[in-house]
Amino acid sequence: MKSDERVVKHPNIKNPVEALANTRHEFGEHGGVNMSIEASTTFTAMHADALSDMFTGERGPDKGGCYLYGRHFNPTVYNLSRQLAALEGTEAAYCTASGMAAISGALMQLCNKDDHIVSANTVYGGTYALLHDFLPAKCGIAATMVDITDLDAVEAAMRENTRVLYAESIANPTLRVADIPALTDIAHRHGAKLVIDNTFSPLLISPRQLGADIVIHSMTKFIGGASDHISGAICADKAFILDLMDLHLGALMLLGPTMDPQVASNLNLRIPHLSLRMKEHGQRAQLFAERLQALDLNVCYPGLESHPDHELFSRLHCPDYGFGGLLTIDLGTQELAYQLMDMLQNDFRFGYMAVSLGYFDTLMSCSGSTTSSEMTDEDKQAAGISPGLVRLSLGITGTVEQRWRQLQTALERLGLIDADGKSQTAG
Ligand SMILES: *Cc1c(COP(=O)(O)O)cnc(C)c1O
Repeated sequence: MKSDERVVKHPNIKNPVEALANTRHEFGEHGGVNMSIEASTTFTAMHADALSDMFTGERGPDKGGCYLYGRHFNPTVYNLSRQLAALEGTEAAYCTASGMAAISGALMQLCNKDDHIVSANTVYGGTYALLHDFLPAKCGIAATMVDITDLDAVEAAMRENTRVLYAESIANPTLRVADIPALTDIAHRHGAKLVIDNTFSPLLISPRQLGADIVIHSMTKFIGGASDHISGAICADKAFILDLMDLHLGALMLLGPTMDPQVASNLNLRIPHLSLRMKEHGQRAQLFAERLQALDLNVCYPGLESHPDHELFSRLHCPDYGFGGLLTIDLGTQELAYQLMDMLQNDFRFGYMAVSLGYFDTLMSCSGSTTSSEMTDEDKQAAGISPGLVRLSLGITGTVEQRWRQLQTALERLGLIDADGKSQTAG
């Protein structure tokens, strides 16, 4: 099938905040407005036969509120998982110790030895290494990496043994957007599952509403919002979550990347203001991107009409949250990129040179030499990741105009724009 023959309908997107607000609220042990932290690793059964029922799955967290062991289910972690399921509109979810644990757990559950994965070639560096190096070498699972925006190339890469089509909703650091309805269509016609890493766009994009089967999060980023916990989640149907927890073949049960209940409790308190944060990140990024573009700088942001996927993103997203908190500026050379970041951090306190994203302050990194350094030079070039590409995860602290003055002054001092606000590097 050729791209122009593919007509995939895009549904009307529901704002996930409504489902979140309807998630059952759990009060603390003494009636506290926040739930208590269940710190126990093991749980007593009230009757001897209840314990064996839990092993056979006849009783569980959803069946009589029975818990067995902390690596299986924990009430505090389970509560957070319910909220993640509401956020993504899936039947169930399971929280893990990291985003990578969620990705590797889901992929190992879906694939057996000699199975095949088709993946976007622009994915998080750890995911890239997992697909490109680890899974083929250790598990006999092969991956073909393709340009996910080229639907004909995706289609051509699908094989008889392809079990998974994998992409990030917004790719790092190219900020290209996955056409999730069209990818769902391709995956399902080939009997594969569509797995979407939605780390960059919680609330903005709802992959399940658009057809994806499994949604992954690194909660280390926007959902956590304070860069203080490594954490992840798999959102999927109930059957898949139970598969992950299977006592004999469950990837999460047996590899054991369990989330700590203290972490789950902290993350639970971040979910209620996620929507406010995403809105503010998005509004600031949109304004900065527009102003940088007006200065003729080489800026990439999905909220700009000049972005190749602006129209697609506009059809897919929940408009209440804008186009996300990440933008990139290509300064041409690594030297200029380093100078700008040094100045912004050390002279202006505009933000910090650090990898990661979704923090309340601005984080800046040079993608080619950091988070995408696992990629080969050829793959980087093909994906358009140049040495001068600075990725900004725009923070929400300070005032907008204060932050803009800092950025503008740094650009002026480096001679990248002149004082009347014209680019010196145009092109
Ligand atoms: C950070 C990140 C991951 C990995 O998550 P960890 O929590 O660091 O394990 C996966 N995917 C994307 C898109 C990320 O940004």
